[in-house]
Amino acid sequence: MGCSSEGFAAALRAAAEVVAEHRTELIELDRAIGDGDHGENLSRGFTAIVSALETEVPATPGAVAKLAATTLISKVGGAAGPLYGTAFLRASAKLGDAAEIDVPLLLEALRAALEGVQARGKAVGGDATMVDALIPAVSAAEGAAAADASVAEVLAAAADAADRGAESTVDLVPRKGRASYLGERAVGHLDPGARSTALLLRAFAEAAR
Ligand code: ADP
Ligand code: MG
Repeated sequence: MGCSSEGFAAALRAAAEVVAEHRTELIELDRAIGDGDHGENLSRGFTAIVSALETEVPATPGAVAKLAATTLISKVGGAAGPLYGTAFLRASAKLGDAAEIDVPLLLEALRAALEGVQARGKAVGGDATMVDALIPAVSAAEGAAAADASVAEVLAAAADAADRGAESTVDLVPRKGRASYLGERAVGHLDPGARSTALLLRAFAEAAR
């Protein structure tokens, strides 16, 4: 069974709750190796998405993704706003005007989101950014889909892999974004953007169940 625009809107509301619950954690992660605004930035962005959805839920999942993208780009400062905004915008372009997100479309949207983040931020795997959560998430999603998983199962596989990918940033020397200014001193710290990516994917997976 696929995910309708209402389903996707519900997933974004769930994501907003998770971001609010983890706001302090994300602030603390970013305070250790950045400027401490990541939790605030993201919670402001997702709160704005929820209010935009209260006015109207767009008719297709692609239009919902586009609303999320434009809201994140306009409301969230820092590096993460434009990066997450680009991710949702590229996903929205892939979703087009389909009425539902099925597994093949989900895979295309996830891959497009990853490619958008990489096109925008120029980070590769191992740079200790959100890309380290997204790359394994997309591969795991593709693997799960090849084994006939449902939308919810594909997202759960992506979230599990994103958790492990985010954990892997602890041992890495950051090469992009603010944390890269610290170099070796940032080793031992979890990247806040990788953590938030894993949290968002988990929220989507739980919502899809
Ligand atoms: P800022 O660093 O401007 O304060 P945030 O704190 O909101 O922005 O977001 C920081 C997160 O953004 C980092 O933890 C990292 O995951 C991600 N990030 C920063 N720069 C890049 C980049 N060039 N490519 C991918 N992700 C990046
Ligand atoms: Mg920051």
